[in-house]
Amino acid sequence: MILDLTTVGTIDALAEIAHVCTECSLAEGRTNVVFGAGSPDADVLIVGEGPGQKEDELGLPFVGRSGQLLDKLLGEIDLAREDVYIANVVKCRPPRNRDPRPDEIDSCKGYLRRQIELIDPKVVLTLGNFSMKLLLGTSTGITRMRGRAYEWWGRFLIPTFHPAAALRGGDRVTNDIRDDLVMVRNVIDGNLRYIDEL
Ligand code: URA
Repeated sequence: MILDLTTVGTIDALAEIAHVCTECSLAEGRTNVVFGAGSPDADVLIVGEGPGQKEDELGLPFVGRSGQLLDKLLGEIDLAREDVYIANVVKCRPPRNRDPRPDEIDSCKGYLRRQIELIDPKVVLTLGNFSMKLLLGTSTGITRMRGRAYEWWGRFLIPTFHPAAALRGGDRVTNDIRDDLVMVRNVIDGNLRYIDEL
């Protein structure tokens, strides 16, 4: 069954539904549902891939090493966690941190869709391939797609690398994320000068 979440009226009501969700088999292995966290009025919605071990334990997104790097890089454009909203493509941890499967992404995508509608951010920042491919509907990889701001359903979408890739890939990847975050800052400030066609 694909859930119809289009009439759920608030983020809290949506979270309540997610917290008891059994739409896919990831429900069996989870400790906590990691629905998302941050300001429901945020200008910036950040979308990762799925919870890791620490996130599953605490029920919060990006609380491990990737999250520490994300916080640091957000700080460089003067954003704190309370200023943004952070969600993931799948809300439950895939076993042994494997990639989420297409059927799991499909079962979960209604939550993300409704999160985007309810939060109504100016800009969606996707981290890594999974969130970018899902939202932009492209099969092109992040390395080719990043570095640009796309017009997407009446708002901006800026794809960047996942911070875990920066932890593995070092300064080059980290600096690419920094460049993409400058675009996010420019959107918030109303200073983005160009939009790329998909
Ligand atoms: N990686 C993700 O994609 N999401 C998290 O919440 C944590 C790590």
